[in-house]
Amino acid sequence: MKEEKSIYVFMGPPGSGKGSLAKLCIKKFGWYQLSTGNLCREHIEQRTEIGKQIDFAIKSGKLISDSLVVTMVREWLIEIFDVTTGIILDGFPRTVAQAEALDALIATTFDSVNLKLVKLVVPNEEIVDRLSGRYICRNNRCQAVYSLRINSVLRPRIGLACDECSDGLVRRSDDEAESVRERLKIYYAHEQDLVNYYRKQQHDIAQVDGTHSLDRVFESFEYLINHRMIT
Ligand code: AMP
Repeated sequence: MKEEKSIYVFMGPPGSGKGSLAKLCIKKFGWYQLSTGNLCREHIEQRTEIGKQIDFAIKSGKLISDSLVVTMVREWLIEIFDVTTGIILDGFPRTVAQAEALDALIATTFDSVNLKLVKLVVPNEEIVDRLSGRYICRNNRCQAVYSLRINSVLRPRIGLACDECSDGLVRRSDDEAESVRERLKIYYAHEQDLVNYYRKQQHDIAQVDGTHSLDRVFESFEYLINHRMIT
């Protein structure tokens, strides 16, 4: 029997844990993740033409153009589609135009795939608190995420060094308070439109309480998968 292929769209505000959950899914299920934010930061670090175009928007917490991000996602999907059964889109689609483009791409190019929507729910105060302690690995091939909050399981083992590649940890410029406020405003402005878009298509959005420990969030997600509650 042909194995079922799924694209999981991880929704949720910045700092809700989409990237951390995705990492566990990669480890435990062997899936692939595309974080459009990571891809954007890679372009900026490598000073590509795209990087130069998007630098300012990213630093100030604004979205980059739909057409640019759709092109990046299309190219990445074409490259990895045949090598995995589980694909996570982390941070895409973020607008209705992007959701429409993803639907069109699935209809024309990846028609054997199931689109599954999962939303991590975390209140705003918790988000702001998380982002104020967030550090990432400055190696753009790594970009592992850490937290310096007391008792966080995401604390690095040694000082400000990455557990995975030993490179230094830095703050993301868009994690500063002003950009965070802007990013949350933009996120919520688009989230309702996206929810309405999928509701119109009678597409469920499974919700996961993202306030618990990462292990528990993963368990809740796995439970939903095993009980076929993400449709
Ligand atoms: P993230 O790492 O997901 O918080 O994304 C960081 C930044 O990358 C965002 O604030 C946007 O500037 C840009 N970005 C990432 N994904 C998208 C997207 N799907 N559409 C537009 N801009 C995006």
